[in-house]
Amino acid sequence: MSDTTNETTNGTAVGPDRKVALVTGANKGIGYEIAAGLGALGWAVGVGARDEARREAAVEKLRAAGVDAFGVPLDVTDDASVAGAARVVEERAGRLDVLVNNAGITGGGPQDPTTVDVDRVRAAVETNVIGVIRVTNALLPLLRRSASPRIVNVSSSVGSLTLQTKPGAQVGPVAVAYSPSKTFLNAVTVQYAKELAGTGVLINAVCPGYVATDLNAFQGVRTPEQGAIAAIRLSTIPDDGPHGRFFDEDGEVPW
Ligand code: NAP
Repeated sequence: MSDTTNETTNGTAVGPDRKVALVTGANKGIGYEIAAGLGALGWAVGVGARDEARREAAVEKLRAAGVDAFGVPLDVTDDASVAGAARVVEERAGRLDVLVNNAGITGGGPQDPTTVDVDRVRAAVETNVIGVIRVTNALLPLLRRSASPRIVNVSSSVGSLTLQTKPGAQVGPVAVAYSPSKTFLNAVTVQYAKELAGTGVLINAVCPGYVATDLNAFQGVRTPEQGAIAAIRLSTIPDDGPHGRFFDEDGEVPW
């Protein structure tokens, strides 16, 4: 990675008294607001983003707002990029307290099951599921150095089979790539929770609600700031907080 040591984005080292978070897909939308919200708590925040210009712009904007932000070049679909991101966090902070797996795509449309281009399904799973596993596993060694490690997976209520199959429920459009990718992510979250039980690493999934972002051509009804609330809340849970559960801003969401 040519820009992992960029002085502009990476500044000074994080001290032991300050929490450090990494948010994937933090250059815009909900991820940017999660980074801003955690930064407002006084945390150092790694801005994980694949595009250098968009990443730098987000870091500069966060810094202008007083956040101790640093850039983390990161494409969640790329092994080398993810390994490089872990190195950036290690060099900057030596540990990671909170990982927010926020980066996500819809896979594009249309997504009717009977006619879908299967590459859309493959792309959604590669980013929304395998990307989360790839990033989580690369960052776990740094998370294990934290006194209170947390992982928050940004999922969606459209991934809830309970809500999707409830009689009369209208949970999102028919979408055979995006919705099942979030169901898969929910299932992955549960498996991590089982393996990590008792280790101190708390992992949960959140739904931000229907938020106006690029993801839905700004059709959502909530602001990105509102969309960030659940992820920020689950990033800051105490050691006896929830583990292997699914939440939105109003409380628990059924898997
Ligand atoms: P967004 O504005 O489109 O932001 C998505 C972010 O993910 C961008 O920063 C994007 O980076 C990044 N990203 C995509 N692919 C990536 C990759 N391969 N590597 C690294 N970063 C990548 O969408 P959003 O609405 O804020 O979505 C954030 C999360 O919330 C997603 O997981 C989404 O599924 C979830 N969610 C959103 C809604 C909603 O209503 N908006 C509802 C439920 C759940 P680029 O700028 O480089 O593309």
